[in-house]
Amino acid sequence: MRPIERGSIPLDRDQNEIEFNFYQQSRGHLLTRLGSYCSYCERYLGGNIAVEHVRPKSKESNLELEWDNFLIACNNCNSIKGDRSIELDKYLWPDKDNTTLAFIYITGGLINVSPNLNPEVIEIAENTIKLTGLDRVPSDDPFLNPEMKDRRWSERRTAFEKAERAKRNLFVNNTESMREQIVDTALSTGFFSTWMTVFLHDIDMLKRFIDAFPGTSKACYNSSYTPITRVGGTL
Ligand SMILES: [Zn+2]
Repeated sequence: MRPIERGSIPLDRDQNEIEFNFYQQSRGHLLTRLGSYCSYCERYLGGNIAVEHVRPKSKESNLELEWDNFLIACNNCNSIKGDRSIELDKYLWPDKDNTTLAFIYITGGLINVSPNLNPEVIEIAENTIKLTGLDRVPSDDPFLNPEMKDRRWSERRTAFEKAERAKRNLFVNNTESMREQIVDTALSTGFFSTWMTVFLHDIDMLKRFIDAFPGTSKACYNSSYTPITRVGGTL
C-alpha cells in the first residue's frame, strides 16, 4: 500500500482554505495531489475515481466534508469497506503510516503481511487487509466467476508480470529511454508497490517511481529509498 501525503487543505484563489459544500468537490484536488489510484489496492482508476471517507459519512456526518478524512478508493475497496465504524488505531492508513513496511507483494500478485512486524502490528496489518479484502483471490475463470466483479487481484498479477518483463527488458537494454518507458508503463498500470518490489535492487528506478507517482510520501524513505518508519504513525 503506497504511503501518501494528501497535503494541507487546498486554498482558493484568495489563498483561503476551501470549504467544500459537498464532498465531491474535493475530487479534483485529490486527483491532482494523489494521482488516479485507489489509496488501498493501488489500481489505476483513470478518471473514474470516487472520494473515499476514511471514517464513513453515514456514521460521522461531521467528517463528511473534512479534507483529512478523504482518500481515493475503487468500487471494490469502497464497497467491501462499506460504512462500518472505523477506529483509526485498529488499522494502518496510507496517509498516516508507512504502509509499505506492513505488506509484502509476491509473484502472482498476492499480498501478505510482513513477518518482520511485532505481534500487535501484525494484527493491525491483518485488520487492514481484511478491511478492503486485499487478500481476496476470486477465480479468473469466467465459467466459475461469470460476473468477475472484483478484478483487483487479477490486475495486480498482470502488473507484477509487466514489471518482471520490464526488468528483463532493462537488463538487456539498460538505457535512459527504457527507464523512462518503464515509469510510463508503471503510471498507466498502477500498483506502485508491485513496481517497487520487482525493482527493489535498482535504486535509480525506485527513485523514479517515488517521484513519478503523485503524492507518494518521500518522508517514508531514506536516502537509499529504503522504507523507514513514518513520524507519528504506527509504522
Ligand atoms: Zn481499490
